[in-house]
Amino acid sequence: MSATPQRLTILGSTGSIGTSTLDVVARHPDRFTVFALTAHHRVDRLYEQCVAFRPALAVVGDATHAAVLQQKLRDAHLPTEVAYGSAALCDAASHAQCDSVVAAIVGAAGLASSLAAARAGKKILLANKEALVMSGALFIRAVAEHGATLLPLDSEHNAIFQCLGTGVRDGRGVERLILTASGGPFLQRDLTTLDDVTPDQACAHPNWVMGRKISVDSATMMNKGLEVIEARWLFDMPAERIEVVIHPQSVIHSMVAYADQSVLAQLGNPDMRTPIAHALAYPDRVDSGVAPLNFAAMAHLSFQVPDLDRFPCLRLGLQVLREDCVASVTLNAANEVAVDAFLREQIRFTDIPRIVEQSLQCLPTLVNQAPLEDILAADERARATAQQLIRDLPVRKAQPIAVH
Ligand code: NAD
Ligand code: MG
Repeated sequence: MSATPQRLTILGSTGSIGTSTLDVVARHPDRFTVFALTAHHRVDRLYEQCVAFRPALAVVGDATHAAVLQQKLRDAHLPTEVAYGSAALCDAASHAQCDSVVAAIVGAAGLASSLAAARAGKKILLANKEALVMSGALFIRAVAEHGATLLPLDSEHNAIFQCLGTGVRDGRGVERLILTASGGPFLQRDLTTLDDVTPDQACAHPNWVMGRKISVDSATMMNKGLEVIEARWLFDMPAERIEVVIHPQSVIHSMVAYADQSVLAQLGNPDMRTPIAHALAYPDRVDSGVAPLNFAAMAHLSFQVPDLDRFPCLRLGLQVLREDCVASVTLNAANEVAVDAFLREQIRFTDIPRIVEQSLQCLPTLVNQAPLEDILAADERARATAQQLIRDLPVRKAQPIAVH
């Protein structure tokens, strides 16, 4: 056990990964303390977390939410400082009083603060895969140049990290990375009925409980498309040595095949607290609160090759991975816009891959070493393009969306 507790900033603490992280943290008060917590709009939940974990700093999205949180904290006589906005997120991620940063904001909104943590040389526990998809080369370079440590929280990448054993970028003898995918809620569904899928049906994942954006990504399998790109950067692996296999039970979280044809797999119940506990305590091992794997209750483990006609978003992700360019910025941005529109019931489920594919066709690609300004400009262009493509679709009724 470390003598002084690790001081954590948890970016996106009110989300699914954020709350799972705090669940693990609460089990080990001797190992971890919380320096900062951040949320976009969910002030009530953030306030409860402040009461429980007593951070020095809390960050929210804007001044209005900051004022509400400030008042609640004052009323409770809690000394937590309140800040708001993206610069404050970056400050929380790079502050001298924090050792480790859990990057668990969803989407491109998490890029700047994740990068700030890298540039400040922090230990980064990365859940925010979109940051790496958008800026892989830049991000990995920042980690190396500033002596940061990057540990994957995404279950597949955490599994691969564990199977690699000797370290993330030490790939000696590694032949292939095999990412498993559950196939989501529509693995067996009649393809002709996908047009009518509702947001709640798309978010009802058979094995994992997650935020709504990644749940839709799992249903379209864009999540795996983003993850192959994430794997490429994290493990410095060429596209042709990254594979996807469908494994509906979500017990094997991913595998590494070696030159001698040994295949190492990491198994566990589908609960994010396992990879979170692994990365938090690394290189130690601590209790995660997850139930032990019950082999007697496991009838069978099955595997199948993904059907790219059923999952066009995975096809697009694999295409962008092979193209070896930052079309991934467009892939990610157009997908975020399309998923948001689907969750608001403005477009159909089957419009998501159409919008992403058409955005990819409309927009130029960038070279891999593009600076951050170019990446952000490409992100903006892709969003505008995807929004225009959505406006060109037949009109559907707009719904308010739940905010975090
Ligand atoms: P979520 O929607 O449950 O939570 C997102 C968090 O980000 C919330 O705290 C929210 O307040 C914050 N946030 C949202 N928009 C923001 C903005 N514009 N500015 C600042 N903060 C903002 O999402 P999640 O499921 O916890 O996923 C978070 C990240 O982790 C995603 O990148 C996702 O792909 C990745 N991930 C999640 C899981 C999972 O099991 N949930 C697994 C692997 C990877
Ligand atoms: Mg994953």
